[in-house]
Amino acid sequence: MKRRDFLKYSTLLAATGGLSGCSILHKHFHDAGCKSCIDPFAKKSKTTSTIITPTQPDEEIVKGLMKDERIKSKYFSQDFTDDIFLSKEKYLFVQKLVVKFRKVQRYVGHGNFNLLSVDNFFLFTDVAPNCEPITPAEKVFMEELFYFDAHKYGFKGDKTSHKLTESISRREVSKVPYSGHFLKKDQSLKLFQKVKNDVGDSLILTSGIRGIAKQFHLFLEKALETKGNLSKASRSLAPPGYSFHYLGDFDVGKKNMGMKNFDQDFAETDEFKRLVDLGYINIRYTQSNTLGVRFEPWHLKV
Ligand SMILES: [Zn+2]
Repeated sequence: MKRRDFLKYSTLLAATGGLSGCSILHKHFHDAGCKSCIDPFAKKSKTTSTIITPTQPDEEIVKGLMKDERIKSKYFSQDFTDDIFLSKEKYLFVQKLVVKFRKVQRYVGHGNFNLLSVDNFFLFTDVAPNCEPITPAEKVFMEELFYFDAHKYGFKGDKTSHKLTESISRREVSKVPYSGHFLKKDQSLKLFQKVKNDVGDSLILTSGIRGIAKQFHLFLEKALETKGNLSKASRSLAPPGYSFHYLGDFDVGKKNMGMKNFDQDFAETDEFKRLVDLGYINIRYTQSNTLGVRFEPWHLKV
């Protein structure tokens, strides 16, 4: 898509964005700078009223809007004018919580951290070395974020868990040797073993089942990276409570590829091509998905 068209769509989206009545989020307009952070119900940008020119038939506009999520999935790492940001006050919670999650993860170990419940995360902030105990205000923020409707900041996927305190039973999962990850004993483990047998030993498990605390940590790290832009964060990672990793989906990669396994580079590997040829590729987030999530060739649906 040409840059001009891309800009046209993103401004068009801003003209129709309809978020209202939420307490933790607000629209952020780049031309207004951070002044909008003060007002959680920031008004629509005045410039948007001139976007729809009289020469554009209505049908065209509707078609353009239908492409909305596909464009966002494709340009997931770009900023859009209707992206939703956390207020400065709430963003401080993100910064503090990320530090606590990192310390607890180091303390319990990466493998165990995948299965940790939110209640246990709270408890471990008391005992992990140099970690400040969780505060009541941080708990409230986590609850608020978990129960907030992520569709309001642009994530279109379904909820996969409904309670912040839900946990994964150890009896339901098996540790996959050398991976540091767990898979559900039934379909997930069977599927992974079958895929590995067919594709070969160079295919590895890069992420298995993830509890709510783990998804929280990943999402907050992403929100830190995007400086509080929740829409942008949710274009590359499901918010806590919306991840299919909680139900059994998993990620695969190629041995020795490191973080490149979570890049489009994976789609170029022989391992990925084998997966396609063998008919294993049942991708949850396809190239043109309408869920507003980037293309994830490494994520296998169970
Ligand atoms: Zn995944």
